[in-house]
Amino acid sequence: VGCGICVKKCPFDALDIISLPEELEVPTHRYGKNGFALYGLPIPVPGKVTGILGANGIGKSTSVKILSGSLQPNMGDLESGASWDEVLKKFAGTELFDYLKMVSEKQIKVSLKPQYIDYIPKVFTGTAEELLRTTDERGKLDQYVSALKLDAILDRKIDELSGGELQRVAIAACLSRVADFYFLDEITPFLDIYQRMVTARLIRDLAVEKPIVIVEHDLAILDMLADTVHVGYGRPSVFGVITRPKGVRIGINQYLDGFLHEENVRFREYAVVFDKRAHSVEAMRNVLFTFPPMTKTYPAFSLGVHGGEVRRGEVLGVVGANGIGKSTFAKLLAGVEEPDGGPNDLKVKVSFKPQYVKGDTDATVELLLRGITKKFDSSYYQHEIVEPLSLNPILQSPVNTLSGGELQRVAIAACLSKDADLYILDEPSAHLDVEQRVKVTRMIKHLAEGRDAGIMVIDHDIYMIDMISERILVFEGEPGRHGEAAGPFDMREGMNRFLQNLGVTFRRDKTGRPRINKPDSFLDREQKTNREYYYYT
Ligand code: ADP
Ligand code: ADP
Ligand code: MG
Repeated sequence: VGCGICVKKCPFDALDIISLPEELEVPTHRYGKNGFALYGLPIPVPGKVTGILGANGIGKSTSVKILSGSLQPNMGDLESGASWDEVLKKFAGTELFDYLKMVSEKQIKVSLKPQYIDYIPKVFTGTAEELLRTTDERGKLDQYVSALKLDAILDRKIDELSGGELQRVAIAACLSRVADFYFLDEITPFLDIYQRMVTARLIRDLAVEKPIVIVEHDLAILDMLADTVHVGYGRPSVFGVITRPKGVRIGINQYLDGFLHEENVRFREYAVVFDKRAHSVEAMRNVLFTFPPMTKTYPAFSLGVHGGEVRRGEVLGVVGANGIGKSTFAKLLAGVEEPDGGPNDLKVKVSFKPQYVKGDTDATVELLLRGITKKFDSSYYQHEIVEPLSLNPILQSPVNTLSGGELQRVAIAACLSKDADLYILDEPSAHLDVEQRVKVTRMIKHLAEGRDAGIMVIDHDIYMIDMISERILVFEGEPGRHGEAAGPFDMREGMNRFLQNLGVTFRRDKTGRPRINKPDSFLDREQKTNREYYYYT
């Protein structure tokens, strides 16, 4: 059976393949009859950071299990499996041969940073420092602690850390080990853009010595971090193909385009594109509500908010470091917290998705959503919420069995299912793959317009903020001590202000995609002089 487009037989009746890539001849591994099949493998290269770019469920973790020697590939032979000799014969003459030979001889030691870090407190009780002492095999602990600003949390118990703190501890632990190969599965969830860039630099420093493979869905970070990328495509949970390595710029562009040139495969019907200019607001928008200047003082932290307005139908991006008061501001708007000097009388109904999502109920996803909305069965709800969040396959799953990415999609659905004037989503991109980020972006913009509501999106993925926002609020100050909320600004002014604080400029490649400039490069200096940090062509 073919899909009608393939010249050769497409084994999955699914892909738009003009000619069958060589990788699709024999799977590297198949999990049982009708089980997931993986084709190809990523190639760890000494001195390089290799990225894997692809949807969740496409076989990235399976690849790493093979590369780390914990899963012996069966080459699709479900009867008798494949001996290492047979596996090595298949890879003879390829870049992977020497590596796999060492794996077969059990000579490879791998250090892993898992995708979901919430299991760490379940297997380790103790403080962050105790954990990091056990992994400090390279004698780099002090350096990592200071670069990742972990000093203040060293004596805290692992199970008391926030997601962003635990992420940084997990990254430091992984990089501290002595290993032949390092694998980090998603480094950015819950980290702000400062922390993302520091982490990227630490990984690059280690890559000079040892091969590193990463999975990352924040494409601006992946772009500055990786030397080459393997694209993973296919059909999640059914089959996945890991392509040969591509240069990072070309690989990301092909991925966004949805068409893989060398492989002759179109895996998405539409291309993801960026506007080169700051989009001017075309729609005339009415004011939804005005918030007054406010302050909020905690014992160790104070927030100042310049007054501003939120408009009907707009998506308002919110950017700023962790610990700078974004969630506090959201709570002031929602009336969960009172500003200094007494309650404000905003009279807006707020629906809020927190940054850290808990899924501790055994109710099914469908039951949970039916408990929030009466419209579940309407075609509106199915089209606007269920379909774009790909909830259908998980509707009958108990919420406490969902993966991090699935739980995130359910939490977004729950927030948007409520009846409110203002929706606030705190880091909706966490644990979503690129495909899901693109779909969520479209869906949120569409919902804001359709409902004439305001939607505030707090996020650290700069591409997502660029694509989703009409205007932005910029938080400035000193994390953990003082924050100042300025704006809302139009996109050019807001991005300039935010990136100026960060000291980072973006250039555009030929396709119009923004790329982080090397610090102190010609463009970096020129753009800083001209104060064009982002929308620069
Ligand atoms: P990714 O890391 O890209 O999200 P994985 O490699 O974890 O993807 O999983 C790919 C597919 O393989 C998933 O559909 C998963 O259900 C399936 N799978 C993973 N491990 C096993 C296993 N031990 N047995 C059967 N199926 C598995
Ligand atoms: P962000 O959302 O930007 O990461 P938050 O608004 O959550 O930041 O927190 C800003 C600062 O305020 C942090 O230092 C935090 O510890 C402090 N903070 C938040 N809520 C409280 C509270 N209820 N009591 C005391 N301090 C708080
Ligand atoms: Mg927050």
